[in-house]
Amino acid sequence: MVKRASLLALILCLFLFLLSPVSVQAGDRLAILDSSVEVDFPLKLNFSLSAESDVNINEIRLHYTVERMSYAQVTSEVYLEFAPATRVEAEWSWDMRKTGGLPPGSTVGYWWTVEDAKDDRIKTELTKVKVDDARYPWQSLTEGKVTLFWYEGDESCVRELMAAGQQVLVRLAEDTGAAPEKPVNIYIYASSQDLLGAMIFPQEWTGGVAHTRFGTIAIGIPTDSLDWGKGAMAHELTHLVIHQMVFNPYNDLPTWLDEGIAMYAEGELEPVLADLLDRATAEDKLISVRSLSSPFSAYAEESALAYAQSYSIVKLLLGNYGQSKMLELLNTFRQGSGYDQALLKVYGFDMDGLNSLWRSYPSKY
Ligand SMILES: [Zn+2]
Repeated sequence: MVKRASLLALILCLFLFLLSPVSVQAGDRLAILDSSVEVDFPLKLNFSLSAESDVNINEIRLHYTVERMSYAQVTSEVYLEFAPATRVEAEWSWDMRKTGGLPPGSTVGYWWTVEDAKDDRIKTELTKVKVDDARYPWQSLTEGKVTLFWYEGDESCVRELMAAGQQVLVRLAEDTGAAPEKPVNIYIYASSQDLLGAMIFPQEWTGGVAHTRFGTIAIGIPTDSLDWGKGAMAHELTHLVIHQMVFNPYNDLPTWLDEGIAMYAEGELEPVLADLLDRATAEDKLISVRSLSSPFSAYAEESALAYAQSYSIVKLLLGNYGQSKMLELLNTFRQGSGYDQALLKVYGFDMDGLNSLWRSYPSKY
C-alpha cells in the first residue's frame, strides 16, 4: 500500500513538470527554447528556463503572482543568476520556508522577461501552475460552492462530512446572515500527521487550518474520528465564510467575534470548556472583551478560556439581538470599522459596555 502510494506520487510528480507555452518573436534571434515549473509541495516551486540568441543573453527575470483575495495584486520579481552566454539555462527555486507556504490547490501565475546584449527583449505569456499536494491520490465531491477532496476512507464518510458542512452553512446563514461568496475547497487529510506534512511551519498541534484568502481549508480527519472532524470542519468553514464576507483592506475582526462565531457553529460548548468558564467566573478571572479582541494567549488554559468566553459572548449577542443585528455588525466590519465604533453603531455599547453586559448575564453557555 505504501509502495503503491509512493509510486503514484512519483507519477503525479512527473506529470507536474508542466511545459508552458512560450512566445517567440519571429524574425528575432532571441528565443525561448523551454520553460517549465516543477511543484515540490509544500516546500518549493522550481522554475527553469532555457533561451538562446546570436549575442549574449544578459538578463533573465521571473515574475510571479499568487491567486488569492487581495486589494492590491502583488507581483514578485526575481533576477536570475547566470553566466551571460548565447545559450543559457537558468533555474530558480521559490523556497516556501522563506516566504510561508501555499495551501494545496492554490494557483500561481508566472512569466519571464529575457534580454540580450542587443537590448532585444522577450516577455513570455502568463502561465498558470496549480500547486497541488501530489503526495496523495485525491478524489473530490462537490455540492453547491463546497468541494471536498479526500484520498482515504470510503465515500459514505465523505458524504456524511459534506452533509454536515452544508448544514453548517444553513445554520450560519440563519444565525448571522453570512453565506459563502466564493467556492470553498476543503482538503481532508487522513491524519494530523499527513496534514502537518502539507504545512511549512505547523503549530505544535494543528487539527485544521482555514486559508481564508485562498478559499481553502486543510484538515486532518482520521476515519475513526468523524464526529470530531465534523466539529473541526464546522469551525474552519465558518472562519472562511465570515472572512470572505468581511474582507477589507483596513481592519480585521476582533478575535472574540471571529472565534466565537466559529465555536458557536460547532454546536454546544464542550463540558470541559463550560467548567473552565464556571471556574473563571467564580474566581473572578474572566478575560475582558477588550483583551479578547486581540490574538489569544499562547498558554493553553488561558487560550481555552478565551475560546469559551468568545462562544459565550457571541451566544449572548445572537440570543439577545438576533440575526439581523449580527449581519449588520459583520457588514459594519466589512467597511473597515474599528471595534468600539462598530459595536456602538449596531448595539449602542462599546467593548467595555459589552463586557459588563456579558458579565451580568446569568446563563453563559
Ligand atoms: Zn478558530
